[in-house]
Amino acid sequence: MFDIKLFNSQSKEKNIFNPLDPSDVKMYVCGPTVYERAHIGNARPVIVFDMLFRLLRYKYGKNSVSYARNFTDVDDKINASAIKTGRSIDEITNETIKWFIEDMAALGNLEPTFKPRATEYINSMIAMIEELIGIGYAYESKNHVLFEVSKYKNYGTLSRRSLDDMIAGARVEIAPYKKNPMDFVLWKPSKDKEPGWKSPWGFGRPGWHIECSAMSREIFGQKFDIHGGGLDLAFPHHENEKAQSCCLSSEEDFAQVWMHNEMLQINGKKMSKSLGNYFSPKELMDDGVPGGAVRLMYLNTHYRKPLDWTKNKLSENHRLYRKWIDLIEKSETGEVSSNVVNAIADDLNTPLALTEMHKLAKTGNLSCLKASGLFLGLFHSGSDINLRKKIPQKVASLIDNLLKERDEARLRKDYARADELRDGFVRSGLQINDTKEGITWELTDNFDYKKLEALK
Ligand code: AMP
Ligand code: ZN
Repeated sequence: MFDIKLFNSQSKEKNIFNPLDPSDVKMYVCGPTVYERAHIGNARPVIVFDMLFRLLRYKYGKNSVSYARNFTDVDDKINASAIKTGRSIDEITNETIKWFIEDMAALGNLEPTFKPRATEYINSMIAMIEELIGIGYAYESKNHVLFEVSKYKNYGTLSRRSLDDMIAGARVEIAPYKKNPMDFVLWKPSKDKEPGWKSPWGFGRPGWHIECSAMSREIFGQKFDIHGGGLDLAFPHHENEKAQSCCLSSEEDFAQVWMHNEMLQINGKKMSKSLGNYFSPKELMDDGVPGGAVRLMYLNTHYRKPLDWTKNKLSENHRLYRKWIDLIEKSETGEVSSNVVNAIADDLNTPLALTEMHKLAKTGNLSCLKASGLFLGLFHSGSDINLRKKIPQKVASLIDNLLKERDEARLRKDYARADELRDGFVRSGLQINDTKEGITWELTDNFDYKKLEALK
C-alpha cells in the first residue's frame, strides 16, 4: 500500500501521514460564511480538500473517512446583509447554503460526511465557554466573554508569529472590555433585532472562532487528524481555535496535521468579497464551461501556490477537457493509474497527476484515463459526458432555425433582434462557438428547452 505524505503547516514539514485510527480518519475544514453566493476563490479549499478526501477514501476505504465542513450562519456580515436587503437571516442563509451545495457539486466535489451549521451548536459553544472560564483562560466583561491570550503559552506557534507581529499585522480591535487588545471574543451581546441566544452572560451570540472548536469537538472529539482551510485563516482564526481547544485538554492535541491552501488571485490580488473582484463558479458554468473543465483549471496549480485566474487559462483547460471527454466517452472504466494516485499521495501534487493523465491520453490508455479522471473528480456525475449525448431532432432543428434567423437579422441590420437571440441563447444554456470551420453549438448542463422555444 502506498504512503500518503502531507505538508503540515504547523511543523512546516512534509511527513508520512499516520491517522490516529485508520478505521476512522477525521478531517475538519472551515467552510463558508453564508451571506452571498460563494466565489471561485471560496471553491479552492473545497476542491483541495475534496481531493484529499478522495485520496483518503481510496487508501482507507469509503466508510473509514469522515469529513466535516461547517457553514458559518451567524456572523455580522449576515446581519448587515439582512438589514441591507430587508430579507430575513434564515432566508439569506438557507438560500446561500443551497447555492453552495449545488455549485460545489457541479465542480465535482463530494458532499462532506458532516455539514454542521453553527446555529445548531450554540449549546456546545456555551458549554465550552463555561469550561474555559472555569479553568481561568477566559473572563467575562461587560456582557462579553473574552479569551485571555497571555494565559496560553503556545499562542502564535501555528502561524509562527510573535505577539508584536500579531498586534501589528492583524486589525486587532482595542475595546474597553478587553484586558489586552489581543484577547478575542468568545461571546458578545446582541441587541433586540440581532440574532441571539440566552446565555449565562446575557442575550448574545458567539464569536467566530469558538464555532469550529465546538463543532469539531462535538463531531470528532478532542483529537482528530487533519484541519484545513485557506491560508488567510491561519491567523487569527486557526490560531484562536487551537488556543481554545488546546487549553481544554492536557496536551497539544487538537488537530494532528494543519493544512492550508494558497489563495486564488485575480490580477495579482486575492479574490475577495471585500475587494469586489469576484465572480461565482455558476457564472462560468452559465457561460457554457462544464464544471469539470473549471475543476481542471484548479488542479493545474499545486494547492500551496497562488493560483492566478485568467480567462486564457480557463479556455485552455476547457479545450483540454473537451478533448479528454471525447476520448473517454465510449471507453470502459479501467483501473486508476498508480502514477496518478502516487502523485496525489505526495502532498496532493495535482499538476504531476495531470502530466500522467496527458501520458495516458497520448498512449491511448483510455480506460485508465477515465478511471483516473474519475478519481480526480473529473468526468463526474455523468453530466459533463451527457453533454455529448445525442440531441433530439426537435431541439436540433429549433436551434438551426434560430441560428438562421440570427444570420438573417444581422444581414438586414436588425441588431436588436440579433442581440435578443444571442442573449436568449446564453439564458437557455445553448453555447455557440464561432470556429474557422463555421458555427458549432452545444448544450450546457443548464440547457432549458422552454427558454429557447420562447425565442421563436
Ligand atoms: P469565508 O467565507 O471568507 O470564510 O471563506 C471560506 C473559505 O474560502 C475559507 O477557507 C477561506 O480561506 C477560503 N478563501 C476565501 N477567499 C479565497 C481565495 N481568494 N482563494 C482561496 N481560498 C479562499
Ligand atoms: Zn474554522
